[in-house]
Amino acid sequence: MKIGIYPGSFDPITLGHLDIIIRASGLVDKLVIGVLRNNAKKPLFTAEERVEYIERVIRENTNLKSVEVIAFEGLLIEFARQQKASIIVRGLRAITDFEYELQIAQTNHKLDSKVDTIFFTTSVEYSYLSSSAVKEIASFGGDIQQFVPECIIQSVYDKYKSIRSV
Ligand code: ADP
Repeated sequence: MKIGIYPGSFDPITLGHLDIIIRASGLVDKLVIGVLRNNAKKPLFTAEERVEYIERVIRENTNLKSVEVIAFEGLLIEFARQQKASIIVRGLRAITDFEYELQIAQTNHKLDSKVDTIFFTTSVEYSYLSSSAVKEIASFGGDIQQFVPECIIQSVYDKYKSIRSV
C-alpha cells in the first residue's frame, strides 16, 4: 500500500490546499494530511481546529475515503516513518517556494532515502493563494469566498470575532 503525507500548517485550509489534496489522493492508496502544530509560527487556529476544518472540507467537498488528517509535531521524516509513508507531497506556487522546498526535500531524503518528495505545481487559479492572504483579508472583514471552501468561511470570521471580544 502506497502511503503519502501532505504536511503543512493549513492555517486555515484554502482552495489551493484542497486542490492538491484531491490531485495527490489519485497517486497514493492513502493520503495522510499532517497538520503541523508549530507554535513558533503562532498559528491563528489551534491544531485541533485546523484538523477539524480539513476533515469538514473533505467530507463536504469530496468523495475521498482514503484520507486521514492527523496533527503532528517534531521532525516530518519521523512522522512519515510512523505513518509508514514513502511519499511526501508538497505544492509549489511560485519560484520563491522552490529554493526552500528543494532544500527541505533534499534534507529529508538524506535523513531517509526511502521517502521521496513529490511536488505538485499549483493550479493557475490558486497560484496567488495563501493562508496568510486569507487571514489578512478576513481580519478586515473582507470577502474570502473565492479563497476558502464555503463550509469553513463562517468559522474563520468567528475566530476573528472571538479574538476581538477578549
Ligand atoms: P507551510 O507552513 O508548510 O508552508 P502551508 O499550509 O502554507 O504550510 O502549505 C502547505 C503546502 O501546501 C505547501 O507545500 C504549500 O506550498 C502548499 N500550498 C499552499 N498554498 C497553495 C496553493 N495555493 N496552491 C498549491 N499549493 C499550495
